[in-house]
Amino acid sequence: MKVVHKERKSSVLSPSTLKCLDNIPTINLTAGCAHLCSYCYARGYSNYPGDGTIVLYANLVEKLENELSRKRRLPKFVYFSSSCDAFQPVKQVLDAAYSVMALLLRKGIGVSFLTKGRIPDRFIALFKSHSNKVNAHIGMTTLNKQFQKRIEPHAATPGTRLKNISALAEIGILPEIRFDPLIPGLTDSAGNLGPLLKIVGKVGIKSAGLNYLFLRPIINRNLSEELGHTKIMEKITQAFRDKVDMRLLSSKSRVNALNLDFRLKKYESISLLAKQYDIETYVCGYKNPDVSDDLTCKNVWQKYFDKKTRQY
Ligand code: SF4
Repeated sequence: MKVVHKERKSSVLSPSTLKCLDNIPTINLTAGCAHLCSYCYARGYSNYPGDGTIVLYANLVEKLENELSRKRRLPKFVYFSSSCDAFQPVKQVLDAAYSVMALLLRKGIGVSFLTKGRIPDRFIALFKSHSNKVNAHIGMTTLNKQFQKRIEPHAATPGTRLKNISALAEIGILPEIRFDPLIPGLTDSAGNLGPLLKIVGKVGIKSAGLNYLFLRPIINRNLSEELGHTKIMEKITQAFRDKVDMRLLSSKSRVNALNLDFRLKKYESISLLAKQYDIETYVCGYKNPDVSDDLTCKNVWQKYFDKKTRQY
């Protein structure tokens, strides 16, 4: 992986474009992501440096310190990351992630992250001293290592992600698990999700986020190129041929979505399955804007919303 260092012109803290993270600032340490997931929407962003390269922003700590010193009110949480992963298997990225997270936690600002990477021990030690300020989400959709490798070639294995969950749980941080993206006919079955739910339920996981794959043009192209003529690709093509519901989910690009009825029925059946292991589910509201707020993550973040200051 080629790492290019670049001065960051814009602020380190940026507003999230994700509906469910409204008002929660985000930090992207890099443009591009070493995990190279086939279904990654960020690979279509205008600042994407191309596969095999990541741009690591320089001077993040100095810039962030400066930005925070000018704020009248510090944010309660900062989210990592909307278009990259903070725990990419690249030493320079991990060093930057550590310095930035340590700074935030030292200032009493919570760190929220979603990762498909391996969380090194030094982060677990850091989080241990700030366990009430860490909000962790682990993305994984299967225990099948071969399948996972096909779609997330450089992300952590399912076994490593389970180790992340256990290590966090041991220091008093119970992560949420994200089944995202669910792929129809492949990862959304009870046969695939049941054993995963059983294992994470035993560790004490109580909450799971759900989201189906949405086929943006760039995702469709990457999946077709990277999976080729495989059973996986056949299943995806078939599912979207049968259930496609073209709609404008974003102002910029057309997105192929599985129709709402199909998604609602499946979300409901996964939710029932999860309940057997004492796990509550919610649906990603940003990616499912046609699903009612009662079922989405918007509700999950409400507990952090301060009604007086109207801030998170
Ligand atoms: S971990 Fe996230 S940001 Fe990185 S490639 Fe995968 S989907 Fe994209």
